[in-house]
Amino acid sequence: MKILVTGGSGFIGSHLCESLAKKHEVVCFDSLITGKKENLDGIGVEFIKRDIRKPFDAKCDLIFNLASPASPADYMGYPLETIEVNSLGMMNVLSNARKHGARVLQASTSEIYGDPLEHPQRESYFGNVNTLGPRSCYDESKRFAETLCHVYHEKYGVESIIVRIFNTYGERMRVDDGRAVPSFITQALEGKPLTVFGSGNQTRSLCYVGDLVNGMEKLAFSDMGFGAFNLGNPQEITINELAKTILELCKSKSKIVYSPLPQDDPRRRKPDISKVRKAVSWEPEVDMIEGLKRTIKWFRARGIV
Ligand code: UDP
Repeated sequence: MKILVTGGSGFIGSHLCESLAKKHEVVCFDSLITGKKENLDGIGVEFIKRDIRKPFDAKCDLIFNLASPASPADYMGYPLETIEVNSLGMMNVLSNARKHGARVLQASTSEIYGDPLEHPQRESYFGNVNTLGPRSCYDESKRFAETLCHVYHEKYGVESIIVRIFNTYGERMRVDDGRAVPSFITQALEGKPLTVFGSGNQTRSLCYVGDLVNGMEKLAFSDMGFGAFNLGNPQEITINELAKTILELCKSKSKIVYSPLPQDDPRRRKPDISKVRKAVSWEPEVDMIEGLKRTIKWFRARGIV
C-alpha cells in the first residue's frame, strides 16, 4: 500500500510512520510548524516539507491526517494556523482522498468533548466546549474536521475513520511542548520544581504512544466505511499523582509548586473504549509505570540530566 501521513514528523506521527514503514511505502508531509524532521531519521519514509493548508495532489491508498499543532501551548501559540489546518487542510485531505479513491484516518481529539459533563466519555457524548475560550481554536476546528469527514462520506462516499485521541505520552515528546508529562520529567531530572496547575486534583488518562499507534492501525486497516472511536488508556489519575509518580521514577528531590489552573482546563477526562474494543479487539497493553520508565529513559538519553 502507498500511505500518506500528514503531520508525520510530530510526536505521534513519527511513531506511526516508523510502524507503517515496516510493511508499506510511506510518504510524510509536514510543514514543520511543530514537528521535527529528525524524528524520522533512519525510519525509511519519504519526507516532503509541505503545508496541507494549500491544495495538493498525492496518489495514495490511505491517508493518516495528523497535521495540526496539538499541545495546548502549541495551538494557543498558533491559533489561526490551527484553525486553517483543521478546516482548509482537512478539506484538501478529503478532496485528495476522493480523487484517488483513498480512505482517511483522521486524528481527532478528546478535546472535542471540552470540559465533559459526562464521565467517562463515550463517542455518543456531544461535548461541552466554550467557543470563546483559549482552547476553542483547537477544540472547535477539530470538531469541524469531524463534520467535514462526515459530509464527504455522506455526499461523496469518501471512507474515513475518526480517532478521538486521549492524552498520549512516550519517546519523542518535545521537551518544550508544555504538556504535563515532558514538563514534569524535565523538571524532575533537572532538579527544578514541578509546576502543577490548579489543585492538581484534575484527572487525565494516559496512553503509551505504542499502544495508540497500534489502535490507529487496527482501525485504519479494518473494513469499516465510516466511524468515530475513542482511543486512549482508561486508567485515570490526578495530575498530583502523576507528578508524584514521576518524582519517584526519576528519584528526584524536586518540590511541587502550584500555580493557577488555566482557563477551561478540563477537570476530568477518561475514555470509554468499549466501542473500539468491540470493533477491532484493541486494548492498551503498556501500563503507566512501564511507559513512563521508557519515556524517562529516552529523555535521559537526550542529555536531560
Ligand atoms: N499541567 C500541569 N503542569 C504543567 C502542564 C500541564 O499541571 O506543567 C496540567 C494541565 O493544567 C492539565 C493536565 O496537566 O490539567 C494535562 O495537561 P496537558 O497540557 O498535558 O494536556 P491536556 O490534557 O490539557 O491537553
